Amino acid sequence: MPDSCSQESRPLLSIENALDSIKVAIQPVSGTEKLTLKNALGRVLAESVYAPINIPRDRNAAMDGYAFSSRDRVDGQAFMLALVGTSWAGRPFQGQLQAGQCIRIFTGAVVPERADSVIMQEQVQVQEQNVYFPADTRVLQNIREIGEDVKQDACLIAEPKKLTAVDLGLLASAGVDRLAVKRQVKIAHFSTGDELTALGRPLEPGKIYDSNRIMLGGLLTDSGYSVTDLGVIPDNKQLLEDSFIDASKNHDVIITTGGASVGEADYVKEILQNCGKVNFWKMAIKPGKPLAFGKIGGCYFFGLPGNPVAVVVTYQQIVAPALRQLSGDALVKPLRFSAICSSALKKAPGRQEYQRGILSQDERGEFFVATAGRQGSNILSSLSQGSCYIILPKACSGVLPGDKVTVEPFSLLI
Ligand code: AMP
Ligand code: MG
Repeated sequence: MPDSCSQESRPLLSIENALDSIKVAIQPVSGTEKLTLKNALGRVLAESVYAPINIPRDRNAAMDGYAFSSRDRVDGQAFMLALVGTSWAGRPFQGQLQAGQCIRIFTGAVVPERADSVIMQEQVQVQEQNVYFPADTRVLQNIREIGEDVKQDACLIAEPKKLTAVDLGLLASAGVDRLAVKRQVKIAHFSTGDELTALGRPLEPGKIYDSNRIMLGGLLTDSGYSVTDLGVIPDNKQLLEDSFIDASKNHDVIITTGGASVGEADYVKEILQNCGKVNFWKMAIKPGKPLAFGKIGGCYFFGLPGNPVAVVVTYQQIVAPALRQLSGDALVKPLRFSAICSSALKKAPGRQEYQRGILSQDERGEFFVATAGRQGSNILSSLSQGSCYIILPKACSGVLPGDKVTVEPFSLLI
């Protein structure tokens, strides 16, 4: 499928083929390290964890009330039991519960052996050491059974899994405080371009501020990654080549922005061909057509386009799944669903587009999407105001208001 803007006759690579090609090329990191639970948030679990104990370990009360045995209930009649003690959370009742007896019990407190029921405190009358149960007293209620959450020796969390705050809570509930995680992926990134000016410096004629680097740094914030910001490299072939080779020696991945196209000052692909290997470099997506993926020695290389919106789109659609695979995490498909488009969208057939939209839902639960504004790959303001991509397939030649489209909500980071 030739692209009208392309200077090359070679067909552009579809995003599906690009992702497949990455899936085949990337070997997950193999090193692991032991960490305490406190340091493990966001890291990828390397060894499945099995429960060393039942959770809960003890039979305990699900609410505040009185623990008793169903054998002491008198069917269809009110009955009275003798109050002989208390079981507090963390301080179990020390005696043996006998027939005709009950105890005061609090949520989370151990239920004594003979008891099999807890009645809510609001449902009984207490007079001195006697507890009066109503005729409609329900039995076999309000007790949390041993192992009802997780049984001892059952798999608590299977590898690989990026550990969430809830996972850490689950591991803590089983008393696990050290675990094996995959080592961090070492990532170096830099911007390329003679026009780039660092923040805080005055803007000389023809120059622009470097917005890609701070954005990419933000997108790469992940405890599974150790990220080095290598600054800005001017459009100088030798300097670029030296920087690529240097960074490749002690990183797993290099990510650059700019210089990946076919202009006179675009050296990325050429350098990658000279000192490494290029897997592909032009994709049938918009924004983000020029993208170099390759390897320098053992280091993966992603040469992203220069335009800021294209950087974000190619990062999210291509680089993020690749990094997830490299970190040893399981791959997840992005959440996509259909919405009714309330705007007219311009599009030429030939490339899959990721237009920026604003998503909403009406009172009946129906999703609607409106364009977020101008769609140029340099228009960062509409990306900032948007809340989703509107994904328009290759063959689509425009959208009319009322048409159904596929949307993908932005992750929390953008
Ligand atoms: P290039 O791919 O190097 O030709 O860059 C394409 C467009 O993106 C040009 O308008 C560049 O000025 C712009 N650009 C490149 N790098 C950055 C950056 N780090 N921040 C903002 N814009 C950039
Ligand atoms: Mg450039």
